[in-house]
Amino acid sequence: MADVRRGLFVDPWGSELPEDYVRIVQHFGLEPFTDDLLAALPRPNKLMRRKVVFCHRGLWAIAKAIREREPFYVLTGIMPSAEKLHLGTRMVIENFAYFQDVGAAEAYLLVADVEAVATRGLTLQEARRRALEFHIPAYLALGVDPDKTRFYFQSENKTVLKLMARFSGKVTMAEMEAIYGSLTPGKIVAALLDAADILYPQMRTRMPGVIPVGIDQDPHIRLARDLVKRTKSEFGFLAPASIYHKFTPGLDGSLKMSKSLPGPYKIELPEDPKGIERKIWKALTGGRGSLAEQRAKGGEPERCVVFELFKQHLIEDDRELDRIYEECRSGARICGECKTYASELMAEFMEAFQARMEEARSLVRELEFVTE
Ligand code: SF4
Repeated sequence: MADVRRGLFVDPWGSELPEDYVRIVQHFGLEPFTDDLLAALPRPNKLMRRKVVFCHRGLWAIAKAIREREPFYVLTGIMPSAEKLHLGTRMVIENFAYFQDVGAAEAYLLVADVEAVATRGLTLQEARRRALEFHIPAYLALGVDPDKTRFYFQSENKTVLKLMARFSGKVTMAEMEAIYGSLTPGKIVAALLDAADILYPQMRTRMPGVIPVGIDQDPHIRLARDLVKRTKSEFGFLAPASIYHKFTPGLDGSLKMSKSLPGPYKIELPEDPKGIERKIWKALTGGRGSLAEQRAKGGEPERCVVFELFKQHLIEDDRELDRIYEECRSGARICGECKTYASELMAEFMEAFQARMEEARSLVRELEFVTE
């Protein structure tokens, strides 16, 4: 795992992650998310405006498709490994919904049930139950539009399974290990399936596509882009674009609020607002050692997990976020105010999420799942 820390591999299945985003961008040849690109996207969402989205591959092609009203797709997957989501997953959904709404992308939401069997030891039945009862409703509750989305289960989609089999003959173990590091048979199945998912919409229509992900998922994008080159004469796929957001930090200040982080340091969906409030009050802030010092020197919002919650999740209005930043820097604001406010906003968000879940569960019963 030392290699992961050195930034040589990012591990889509692990919880050890690269600590230096800039080095990762350089090492893997990612493109920074620049102001020019931001300006090329209509009505960018808050993650884009605030550079929580920090790099991409090939997103200019998608910006062009949006501008010229050409077809493109957006795709994301659900891994039904736990019966909760952690807060960070919401950012993938926010970016997915952006391309669905603003760009009118053809949208695909898949359930990675075969991957859950291969890498998490679930049965297909259990993966399906969790997806139908919790994950799909949660994605709808967080902004996915069911009327504009095609849904499928990996295990039922014959085109995806055939594509995966085809891809298995197009790459060697050494090449897979160069991308992923050490592999198990289950991870090989999952990686090839992910590549098949990413390119599957182009089996219907050749068009550019974008995959919103956390940076730890980049190996799947690299494999898919490699396979595009290797199967050029057979399929003629266009290289998929990707867009990467920073992680929501753990409440202890650790890099990622992952599923494996201990309970007090993460916020899950759904979660009791009282419990969240207790956690937020213990969260790492950029506050000073004493009130007098904070008033004199100001706080450090750049190091503050509570400010990061405002920035990534809780505050839509940029002017309000700027105001909190300035008040913190000047010492006009103290951490207790922020913690109280963050707890209130989080409680509102959880309440709204739970209400939308009820609605979404009834919608799921009417969904149709694509099988080829
Ligand atoms: Fe963070 Fe608010 Fe404290 Fe500033 S005042 S360090 S933004 S909690």
